[in-house]
Amino acid sequence: MAELQRPTLCCCRKVLTVPGNKSCEGGRGLARCRPVDVASASNFHSFKLRHFHLDLHLNFAVKRMTGWQVLELTPVQPGVQSLILDTHPSLLIHSVDCKVPGASGAPDVFLSLTYRIEPFTDYGSSLNISLPAAVIRPHRAFRVTIRYTTTDGPAIWWLDAELTCGQTRPLVFTQGHSVCNRSFFPCFDTPAVKSTYSATVRVPEGVTVLMSASRSAYSKQDRVFQFSMEYPVPAYLVALVAGDLQHADIGPRSRVWAEPCILTCAVSKLGGSVERWLNVAEGLFGPYVWGRYDIVFLPPSFPIVAMENPCLTFIISSILESQEFLLIDVIHEIAHGWFGNAVTNATWEEMWLSEGLATYAQRRITTEAYGDSFTCLETVFRLDALHRQMRLLGDNNPVSKLQAKFEPGLEFERWLNGCGPPLCEPDLSAGRALTGPVQHLCDLWGVDAPDPQVISTFDLSSWSTFQTVLFLDRLLDRSPLPQEVMSLLSSCYSALLDGMNAEVQIRWLQIVVRNSFYPDLPRVRSFLHKHTSRMYTVPLYEDLCGGVMKCFAVEVFYQTQARLHPNLRRTLQQILFQSSALNTSTAPSLLATPPSAPSSPTDPPANGTIALRDVNVSA
Ligand SMILES: [Zn+2]
Repeated sequence: MAELQRPTLCCCRKVLTVPGNKSCEGGRGLARCRPVDVASASNFHSFKLRHFHLDLHLNFAVKRMTGWQVLELTPVQPGVQSLILDTHPSLLIHSVDCKVPGASGAPDVFLSLTYRIEPFTDYGSSLNISLPAAVIRPHRAFRVTIRYTTTDGPAIWWLDAELTCGQTRPLVFTQGHSVCNRSFFPCFDTPAVKSTYSATVRVPEGVTVLMSASRSAYSKQDRVFQFSMEYPVPAYLVALVAGDLQHADIGPRSRVWAEPCILTCAVSKLGGSVERWLNVAEGLFGPYVWGRYDIVFLPPSFPIVAMENPCLTFIISSILESQEFLLIDVIHEIAHGWFGNAVTNATWEEMWLSEGLATYAQRRITTEAYGDSFTCLETVFRLDALHRQMRLLGDNNPVSKLQAKFEPGLEFERWLNGCGPPLCEPDLSAGRALTGPVQHLCDLWGVDAPDPQVISTFDLSSWSTFQTVLFLDRLLDRSPLPQEVMSLLSSCYSALLDGMNAEVQIRWLQIVVRNSFYPDLPRVRSFLHKHTSRMYTVPLYEDLCGGVMKCFAVEVFYQTQARLHPNLRRTLQQILFQSSALNTSTAPSLLATPPSAPSSPTDPPANGTIALRDVNVSA
């Protein structure tokens, strides 16, 4: 378990918290939870949810959403006496009303309903609404209106202006996956229940609102945005972002949204490509059913890399400087348009189906668009990451199973339920032209320092990002390295890698830290001053604290904390102080953090089990 103190950069940035530590799912789609994590699981089969509507006012000054939700429900079973929805302690219910259409010309019936909120899990509550037996009948539709206010629950990320790219206006976004949207609106928080939805969102002047919807309209006079999603979606795919956002069209059905300061860059990186990828995907899997495929770039505080919100992929702006990762991540989100969004797993335990099939589809698309070699190269370094994670998790760790439960005896019982890496691996020899030089260079960097003249024949500046990443990952796996090897590595590559993208730099700097190579420490400092996203800061801080550089980490943290989102700040505080005599309560005074400890998606599970909240799936 000691190695677990040094998690590597997750291959897919889908962070999985395992008991007592953090690690990654290794791209294997290990998202899972207990079905009991969904309070509404006990009754959602009793209803057909046809549609729901949100009417919300966004108040940036007090970081609050206030309004109401209308659910259109039809009981499908007799004797239904209550409606149980998932909600969250950060969501304050004001009232619950019911409207039942009158039968045979009788007037509609309006009733105020009683309800109670009960603790359910450490990250959610159960909203139990009593239904009037006298008027609720099977197959007879009725409406429930819930008036509520919600603040800073796990789904809702309020960013002060200084945390945005432009640093001029505040921004708010939601992130529903996995079971966070219960803090956005009361819901059946399970992928099993899909419905259409609509929304009315009122915002201050100058704020643009986007949602994962197929249609939108804006009334400038009333500063009201209207949205409609005409295709059924599960609750976790309902998403909203509001801030200083502008757009540019990049194809016949696609536009890029971003803060003005990064819009030009975003368009230049994606222009022309997205429609090409959509066309390739349609050729493989059939028509794209969602109409629009837009992309919104979010500030570095976005907690994951990307999220497949229908019609509107959310993606972190930090990825813009890493072209190949941007390409892969967008293609992956496109693939979810077929796998995960159009066809959805029934339970949270089966999220591996969504991720697994989307990853398969993503590689089919890249094979068509960029060839076998490129796809195999990408797969090789993901596979390396998978094995790295398996080593970190240890043999027979239950989180390495694809699915926790399955009928035994079946043909692929061991494949599905066995621990460890996959039983068989794909033939990636088609990528040898790209992976061969990487492996050759890795071999030359053996135990001893190699001949610099031989090394100089390998021109890393001509390599693709994925090749360089594969090379550095493999060096990282061998760390600690002899000091003379580190010195030579630094003299050969450090300055060159400094000019490369963040995905390359983070790996080199992890090597620097894990080898306690002080001459390159200023590069670590400048990187942490520049990058404020979770995916780049957390791995470096964990490595710094796992080694002998904790004082340096604390110093850099104090210098940069004002530019970190409170949730990330809290995570880094835990990394910095949890394993020392200090802890967050006795640590030197830090910037105030909100008292919503249960809302952090990276807090370790209190009971030592793996819960859905701990699986932070990017996509
Ligand atoms: Zn995905």
